Amino acid sequence: MSQVLTGVVAEHLGADADDPGQLGAREGEDTGRFSFNVPGGRCENCQGQGSIFIEMLFLPGATAPCPVCHGARYNPETLRVTVAGRSIADVLDMTVEQARDFLRDVPGAVRSLEVLSEVGLGYLRLGQPATTLSGGEAQRVKLASELQRVRRGHTLYVLDEPTSGLHPADVDLLVAQLRGLVAAGNTVVLVEHDMDVVAGTDWVIDLGPGGGEAGGRVVAAGPPHVVAGARDSVTAPYLALRLARREGGRRGVAAR
Ligand SMILES: [Zn+2]
Repeated sequence: MSQVLTGVVAEHLGADADDPGQLGAREGEDTGRFSFNVPGGRCENCQGQGSIFIEMLFLPGATAPCPVCHGARYNPETLRVTVAGRSIADVLDMTVEQARDFLRDVPGAVRSLEVLSEVGLGYLRLGQPATTLSGGEAQRVKLASELQRVRRGHTLYVLDEPTSGLHPADVDLLVAQLRGLVAAGNTVVLVEHDMDVVAGTDWVIDLGPGGGEAGGRVVAAGPPHVVAGARDSVTAPYLALRLARREGGRRGVAAR
């Protein structure tokens, strides 16, 4: 999955929920008013960006909060429209988890927000520019929007270190989501250094023997327990350790 995303997080929520106008529509407002990508309800000073780019003569340019809307992205008329006391700017300032609670009566939105939480992105703000996301975060946002689509079961997903920057507890959540894709008949190919993730795959291709110029050859390939026993693999001991720990964990659970 390419890591290039534009716009803000809310725009990548999925087919049903990418329109913040859903909120306004219920108030009898034209939904276009709530898009900051088109004129109508947005702040025209910053064209809905919430910030302005300041060009400097001898220095690289910089961005600063818009002096008219102070980062809210909308004009005062739009900000006067509220649902349960919150304006569209307030909603965009919410984290995914806060919004999931606030929008619980909007089915399309709630499902999307749940999936974002499930891939460990509950802390993102809806209005956060997608360009500020890390590579791992951007991939998980894309994955989340993919997870909501009808699972046709014949898609190949290629992910480059989707766990980068992810809390260990959330790695399990992400792996469960990927497992779901595989269970539905899709194929997931991961470039990954996290041995917990590697240990949970069906097939491992270990590239090496070293990094960069010293790598690029297939050192070992097979199910995780086979690669863990490969003699020339630098990765094998780490993988073996992780597999042993998983086994131990499982036995511990069974013993209880
Ligand atoms: Zn503005």
